[in-house]
Amino acid sequence: MSETPEGATPPRVDIAIIGGGLVGASLGCALAPLIRERGLSVAVIEAAPLPSDLDAPWQPSFDARASAIAAGSVGHFRGLGLWEALAEQAAPIRRIHVSERGRLGATRLRAEELGSEALGQVIPNAWMGRVLHRRLAELPLEWHCPARVETIQPAAGGHRLTLSDGARLEAGLTVLADGGRSGLKERLGIESEARPYDQVALIASVEMDRPHRGWAYERFTADGPIALLPLKGQAMELVWTHEAGHEAPRLALSDGDFLARLQAAFGDRAGRFRRVGRRHAYPLSLVTAKETTRPGLAVMGNAAHALHPVAGQGFNLALRGVMDLVGALEAGLERGDAPGSAAVLADFEARRGGDRHDVIRFSDGLVRLFGLDSALLSHARAAGLVGLNLLGPLRRTLARRAMGVQR
Ligand SMILES: Cc1cc2nc3c(=O)[nH]c(=O)nc-3n(C[C@H](O)[C@H](O)[C@H](O)COP(=O)(O)OP(=O)(O)OC[C@H]3O[C@@H](n4cnc5c(N)ncnc54)[C@H](O)[C@@H]3O)c2cc1C
Repeated sequence: MSETPEGATPPRVDIAIIGGGLVGASLGCALAPLIRERGLSVAVIEAAPLPSDLDAPWQPSFDARASAIAAGSVGHFRGLGLWEALAEQAAPIRRIHVSERGRLGATRLRAEELGSEALGQVIPNAWMGRVLHRRLAELPLEWHCPARVETIQPAAGGHRLTLSDGARLEAGLTVLADGGRSGLKERLGIESEARPYDQVALIASVEMDRPHRGWAYERFTADGPIALLPLKGQAMELVWTHEAGHEAPRLALSDGDFLARLQAAFGDRAGRFRRVGRRHAYPLSLVTAKETTRPGLAVMGNAAHALHPVAGQGFNLALRGVMDLVGALEAGLERGDAPGSAAVLADFEARRGGDRHDVIRFSDGLVRLFGLDSALLSHARAAGLVGLNLLGPLRRTLARRAMGVQR
């Protein structure tokens, strides 16, 4: 993108999306009908360079991170015409088994009980990125990549942005989808509430000695909760939560020793662990922005709420936000309201309703209920799990929320 000469009025777009990660890229794709049919002008600015081989044959990486996508999100992607491509590398979750090592309590959530084929789907993040960016490349939008938004300032009717590639932009609506770590939110004076969990998620792909048949597992162990999600083929995605600091020795183990420790902690329920890919560590905290909209501004995805991954809700929640924003923009265009207008943003907030608050409370509650500590609590947890298994309606509520079909 060419530089805007100093002093000249920067080019103006209706919407600037800062960040082309999962959320910013999903929003760009979801805006396609408004771009094509209503002439909405959109710019996406992404700091990290994209891989140049978006159309090359896919080599599933044994190392990649994957996300559990709720049934509700699958419906949204289907509506956007993206599901067929996403499904190529998706694995359905047909059953979820929640248990506690060394205790009787266990609960099973079955898709068929909810009249559904799958409780959700697990998709490698890299594949989602590739599908979303392939679609973005087909759209007539302004694409700045690699380019970092360096400054953001309120200006008449929106915000003015300066980019690391020398370009300047004005946007009626700026969507902050930068993941929340760029400092832009703070520079706008938007405060966040941050509560570190003092936990670190250790992520890796693991290969099992037998087919997973669509089972996902959440197992609470003395070494921290271990989640296994089915991936396409015989591999599973491991999310092993540790007390902060305790993950370092696990990261340093040889593959063989790591697999032995994992087997000892998890048990044999899913079979024998055969191979492990590269291990990554993510410190966990609950971060929520105190403001998610201002005139001319919407804060979305991790910039608005970074959750504990225990319930796999972060992206699913963000995608519902994306769909609500597009709904509010469309309704605003019908009424003649500009994208960044107070009316559109109030409609967006109204559509979000209690969803954001409910999901944050639900995920945070699960972390606290199944905290890593207290031996005493574990009795209550086991009792809770048994109770959950007995209490059909409560269990179904949990499953429906996990599927993203209940707000
Ligand atoms: C271990 C783990 C497991 C998870 N599992 C699940 C799951 O199973 N299901 C689920 O729903 N959610 C899950 N989540 C949550 C999910 O990963 C997040 O909700 C999602 O990644 C948020 O995407 P985002 O686009 O908001 O942020 P990010 O993915 O952080 O993307 C932000 C983008 O903005 C770009 N950027 C940053 N600053 C700038 C700037 N100044 N200018 C331009 N671009 C910029 C970055 O390069 C990046 O591409 C998990 C999270 C973790 C940590």
